[in-house]
Amino acid sequence: MSTVAVTDVLVVGAGPTGLTLACDLARRGVGVRVIERFDAPSITSRGKGLQPRSLEIFDDLGVADEILTRGAIRIPVRMITADGTVTDRGPITVPAPDPTATPYRETLWIAEFDVEGPLRDRLALDGVPVEFGTRAVGLEQGDDHVTVAVESPRGPETIRARWVVGADGGRSTIRRALQVPFEGFTVEELWYLGDVRLEGLDHGRQYILPTASGALGLTPLPTTDLWQWQSMITPGDDAPEEPSLQLYQRLLDEHLGAGRVVLTEATWLSLYRANVRLAARYRAGRVLLAGDAAHAHTPAGGQGMNTGVQDAFNLAWKLDAVLAGAGESLLDSYEQERRPVAAAVLASSTAKIRKFETNAVHGVDGVNKGFEGMGADTSGLSIAYPDSPLSLDGIRAERAPYATGLRGAGFAGSTFDLFRGPHWTVLLFSDDSADAELLTGLPADVHVHRIGSGAIQDAQGQAAERFRAAPGTIVLVRPDGYLAARIPATRSEWLRKHLGSLVS
Ligand SMILES: Cc1cc2nc3c(=O)[nH]c(=O)nc-3n(C[C@H](O)[C@H](O)[C@H](O)COP(=O)(O)OP(=O)(O)OC[C@H]3O[C@@H](n4cnc5c(N)ncnc54)[C@H](O)[C@@H]3O)c2cc1C
Repeated sequence: MSTVAVTDVLVVGAGPTGLTLACDLARRGVGVRVIERFDAPSITSRGKGLQPRSLEIFDDLGVADEILTRGAIRIPVRMITADGTVTDRGPITVPAPDPTATPYRETLWIAEFDVEGPLRDRLALDGVPVEFGTRAVGLEQGDDHVTVAVESPRGPETIRARWVVGADGGRSTIRRALQVPFEGFTVEELWYLGDVRLEGLDHGRQYILPTASGALGLTPLPTTDLWQWQSMITPGDDAPEEPSLQLYQRLLDEHLGAGRVVLTEATWLSLYRANVRLAARYRAGRVLLAGDAAHAHTPAGGQGMNTGVQDAFNLAWKLDAVLAGAGESLLDSYEQERRPVAAAVLASSTAKIRKFETNAVHGVDGVNKGFEGMGADTSGLSIAYPDSPLSLDGIRAERAPYATGLRGAGFAGSTFDLFRGPHWTVLLFSDDSADAELLTGLPADVHVHRIGSGAIQDAQGQAAERFRAAPGTIVLVRPDGYLAARIPATRSEWLRKHLGSLVS
């Protein structure tokens, strides 16, 4: 029998995108349900590179420490050619250039299941369980709600939600139900993927075997004795063998010689062809798309999961504000800001995989050439929303900088310590305590801090420099850590008006 359950936001899909979104919504006190078609948490590694900006987001959500314990940085690479020549090289990840610009400079190697676990635990602390074995099969939009048909062990049900987010991956049921075109193409080259256990390699290294068909990569998955397997299939081979442990063993034996490395088990095997696609729209009525449901790209540069996590962080506070009474146009800014980011990621990751596939067939030098530039501009730290409708006075919505050495008024820490949480933040750079009067009466979820004498001291001047804030400047930082205003303190009424339209 069909039952109707009601919630503010229904998140469809408990991958990294859906879980990040649900965590941010739940800590805000928004009623949220998360449904997942699989019966149990995923055990496949898939995305395995977590970038600095995503780690900053996880810091804000209180899960970064746990996630860091499950990953590894700067894994060195060993290449072994068919004639047995061993060449060692440094990691393929590239740290963010300025060591002081972020607390998380390095790309973290981590299996996707080890990102999802801490997010699920965080969500459970807020009393939101992931509803496994529950598949969305259709939806119907009403004036002030959406009704989603689901199938679960209890039988068919409907869930009525004020907003629905399709975070249900590349083959998104929600996107299809909305008939939103997923524009782009499917890459011709095929790859074998998998998670395997093996004997004969050092789990502290990543191995690349330059083969005739391209490259075979084995990446250690830090919290386990598993390795992620990625191997290119000979270009033009349209009917490759089905993936199996025996086949993967044969590929290894052909390259290294029989028995040198022994595969003992596979927990995931897959034949993979990347898609390069972008949803024509991110919003249709009361339904939004996020993560791979909105954009699919090649794994090159490690961007897919990261882009989804960052989508979620952009969207959660907007949904919260609209549920609390802010104008719905705030939700349109989600597509305006995030779709161009995905388009840029699509272009760069496609160029990177092409370069890798073209070069990797030419031995060690080719593989090295293929990796050139792979880690360039992947940190996510320079992502900005230059045309954001949420910016006051034409300011570029760039990531609010990390600055350390702040101390005073009972506080010691960094700007990120001031931003951490679901609130907006106003920084008033002024030595005149009377200026604080200009900022009275702002909404309760705006935290105001004066930086100057008699308040929080910016002893090294790092905050003032990085925020480009002369004395007498107000800076407004959004809940997702992007700049929304930099104006003279004497114009604080602009701020009041601007916030009035964004914070209900
Ligand atoms: C080999 C490989 C390497 C990669 N490396 C990286 C990397 O280094 N860095 C990176 O950032 N990305 C990487 N990616 C990409 C990354 O895996 C994806 O971008 C990421 O999984 C997207 O997360 P998501 O939450 O949007 O979607 P998904 O992880 O696909 O999650 C969607 C969830 O929705 C569920 N679902 C689907 N349909 C329904 C339904 N109808 N009802 C309920 N639930 C449903 C699915 O079961 C799934 O759990 C890699 C991918 C591959 C294949």
